[in-house]
Amino acid sequence: MSATPAPSRPLPITDDVDTGGFFEAAARGELALRMCNDCNAVLHVPLAYCHRCGSWSTRWQAVAGTGRLYSWTVVAHQVHPAFPAPYTVVLVELDDHPEARLVGELPGRPELVAGQAMEVWFDQVSDDVVLPQWRPARAWLEAKE
Ligand SMILES: [Zn+2]
Repeated sequence: MSATPAPSRPLPITDDVDTGGFFEAAARGELALRMCNDCNAVLHVPLAYCHRCGSWSTRWQAVAGTGRLYSWTVVAHQVHPAFPAPYTVVLVELDDHPEARLVGELPGRPELVAGQAMEVWFDQVSDDVVLPQWRPARAWLEAKE
């Protein structure tokens, strides 16, 4: 008799025409946002056209993988077998593009402070999917001690 296999994690569609560039960049170890080629607006969530100037000319651009903790919530009740509770969902505002906020996940119930420095890391969640994730920035943790 074999052990019950580990539950598989739901994975994002990584070759979508609007969002695929995000995952392609992550696979290279880069955090990228979609931006307008004509007015440089950040298009987040990613869109094929610019909501500011109406242009259909866009690009994926690497951005700094640093930000500030904007908000978080602890998930105490398990909603999927691949995500054992408790875990903490964080919302991070990017340092160089504060109009963009990205979601990440921390294990357990870490002590967090609104506005604390966060840094991106890249989680290889399957053979061909890499997800940008967030953790408290090392410099912030060292300064706290
Ligand atoms: Zn534009």
